[in-house]
Amino acid sequence: MNSGLVDYDSSDDSDSVIDLAPALRSVHCHEMVGYHAECETQDEAIDTGSVLRPPSRLERAFEKNRLQPLVNPFISQRRGGSGPALATNERNRVIRKKPPQGVRRAGGGHRASKEPSIEPAQRLREFPDQCLRISAGKLFCGCCKETLTVIKNSIKTHVVSAKHTRAKTAYFVQRDSDLEVKDALETYFTEHNDDSTASLSPEIHLYRYRVTEAMMFAGIPILKTDYLRPVLERADIKLTGSEHLSQYIPKVEGLEFSAIHRELLGESVFLMFDGTRRQGEALNTVARFCNENFEILLRLIQFVTLEHSPDNTTLSTTLTTLWTRQYGLDFEALTGWGRDSCKVNGTATGRLQVIFSRSEDLLCICHTLNNVGDYVGFPEKRDFMTSWRILVQNNNAAKHLWKSFTNSAMVGFSNVRWWSRQEVENEICLNFGDLPAFLTALDTQNVGDATTRKMRTLYEADPLLLAMLL
Ligand SMILES: [Zn+2]
Repeated sequence: MNSGLVDYDSSDDSDSVIDLAPALRSVHCHEMVGYHAECETQDEAIDTGSVLRPPSRLERAFEKNRLQPLVNPFISQRRGGSGPALATNERNRVIRKKPPQGVRRAGGGHRASKEPSIEPAQRLREFPDQCLRISAGKLFCGCCKETLTVIKNSIKTHVVSAKHTRAKTAYFVQRDSDLEVKDALETYFTEHNDDSTASLSPEIHLYRYRVTEAMMFAGIPILKTDYLRPVLERADIKLTGSEHLSQYIPKVEGLEFSAIHRELLGESVFLMFDGTRRQGEALNTVARFCNENFEILLRLIQFVTLEHSPDNTTLSTTLTTLWTRQYGLDFEALTGWGRDSCKVNGTATGRLQVIFSRSEDLLCICHTLNNVGDYVGFPEKRDFMTSWRILVQNNNAAKHLWKSFTNSAMVGFSNVRWWSRQEVENEICLNFGDLPAFLTALDTQNVGDATTRKMRTLYEADPLLLAMLL
């Protein structure tokens, strides 16, 4: 038998005439992928090895594996059948199937007409300005990112379709934006030719800029690009390490602020500022204005993290510099300041009103109401809600139980969103009728122990009072 890999004569002494090791390795390699060009069956390829010498440990292991039924690795064995109920994210991974034959949409199935033998370049000439190009010898729609046939009617249908029209509009917007970014980067690197990356091509700069921007937009820490780099470089453009990529962050920020600057020009603007010490002192400033289409818009025009909390002088200087030097806008265009009632903000606004003579000082009504609420004492409600936040908002069993009563997921609680408490209380209020059964079920299922008992006691003491307070 000819293995198809070496010329082998069975009458020869194999040890002295031919070194069979490479041949055997080839047989195994081919068998590993389940394919051999000249053997009729896979068994033949194995026989070639077995008649020459006893099977090696590797061969025996391989043979053992070969006899085991193959399991498709893309079909999770955890889905379906008996077993515990799967979480939503697991259920969502179930394989979506096509509708049965006969119910499929028109246009599905095999193409009836045969592709003519026409060069794609001819179709490019016939359909100009449609973002078509030739990719790997095929006609390719650059905005829809799909390969097209060269059948003229198919292309006609494609270029007038709503999907292509939408994609084409987005494509031209993106192209213009790319040109703008490229120009800005080129100008920067011409002026800063001592920058270590100044000699890179504009295309590479643009790609790195877009990757950084996408990471920022998705809220992905820039350090994680080191893990994503191999896959991102499949676009055949060289990326760089996260430490270099992070140098594009100020450039992304700069162009974003330029776009906001264009929006603010000629508008009367109200500025709101606030800081939080939860993650260092993070100072942010938001502009609120009404554009020519009578749309009320909000734009974050500054976000800086500071080592220390600013005093009123630093704060007023920072805001003045932001408006007059960073954005270069008129003093008269600033109509007012929105702030919370803390003393530093109040004193800073007093200073700012001297500089910006047309501006008004406006306390944030939401902050004010929130602070008023803190001074109103309802101990029963406070104790009940504290227990609720400790137990129900943080316990998965309790959350599932609540969902089984209300048929909707529980509203999440956040310490940093000041209206979050109201959302939670409102949800309890709307489902107040289910509350006694829910508390009993928590107790029966041993969820929460002392906290559950405390909530039951508070509820049973005076349900009507609790309902009114919520
Ligand atoms: Zn298209």
